[in-house]
Amino acid sequence: MRPTTALLLALVLGLGTASSTNRARAYCRMTTSTTAPSLAQPCVTDGLPLEWRRRCFEYSVDVGGSPDMDRPTLEGIITASFDAWLNVRCGGVAPGFEVRETPDASVCREAEYRGSGGNVNTIAFLDDWAAYDYDPAAFAVTTVWHVTATGEILDVDMQLNQTLGPYGVCPAAGCPGADTGTAEMADLQNIVTHEIGHVFGIGHSEMPGAAMYAVSRRGETDKRILRTDDTDAFCAIYPPGSLPSECAFPPIGGLRLDCPASSGGGRCAVSHAERSGSLPAWALLLGTSLLIGRRKRRRTRPSR
Ligand SMILES: [Zn+2]
Repeated sequence: MRPTTALLLALVLGLGTASSTNRARAYCRMTTSTTAPSLAQPCVTDGLPLEWRRRCFEYSVDVGGSPDMDRPTLEGIITASFDAWLNVRCGGVAPGFEVRETPDASVCREAEYRGSGGNVNTIAFLDDWAAYDYDPAAFAVTTVWHVTATGEILDVDMQLNQTLGPYGVCPAAGCPGADTGTAEMADLQNIVTHEIGHVFGIGHSEMPGAAMYAVSRRGETDKRILRTDDTDAFCAIYPPGSLPSECAFPPIGGLRLDCPASSGGGRCAVSHAERSGSLPAWALLLGTSLLIGRRKRRRTRPSR
């Protein structure tokens, strides 16, 4: 069934802050606001908060995978990253999400949402990051498509910056050089766990050490582990009993593993024409958050 809600199109950048404040501030939520978070105002509170209103969804990993690891390793890291969130208990009870990977890979490196027809929550590595209007220092961008009138999340696409690779698996305590951000590789689970927080509609945290802290040192593993601030955010958005009991994994409109910009045309041209022609009311608000990478950053002396 096609929703009749009219949506608006906008771009929200969740800019990572490098604030050195030690003030403990609660998590932020992503919202429908078109106001971009800033250093002075990291939490945008106007607009409606974003949230899933279904408890089951599925994602696909782009067929290109990552050049840094084989596909089973990559898929295992993504699964472990989701599990960090899915294992959260709120008052001893899980909110009830079920998330699975589609059996087939997506053929989609773009953050896109079709108002009509199928979609895919894709996870893709981009080796042409400079071709996108993204911060070159960002490890990843997660785009959260939602209904502006309600904040309901419809679709999420995670794009990882391959030019800041290689990505890999660091020891639990981090890769050598992680304390200075000079490690040879970036820990993929560290980054994906953070991005999945955005998948669930959570914004950035000002708390260094939190998985949702906006800045990551190269080679760190801190964000693999959710902190209280992270789980507080998750449980506040999805208290037990808040999600419907029904479970349907495919996106509204069905699963479609390709996307127009990366599929080379063909039948994909139809959805473009359809959206711009007969569905002018279908515009979407796009929320984007960045996990900023500080590569080769000079060591900062501890404050005295
Ligand atoms: Zn982020």
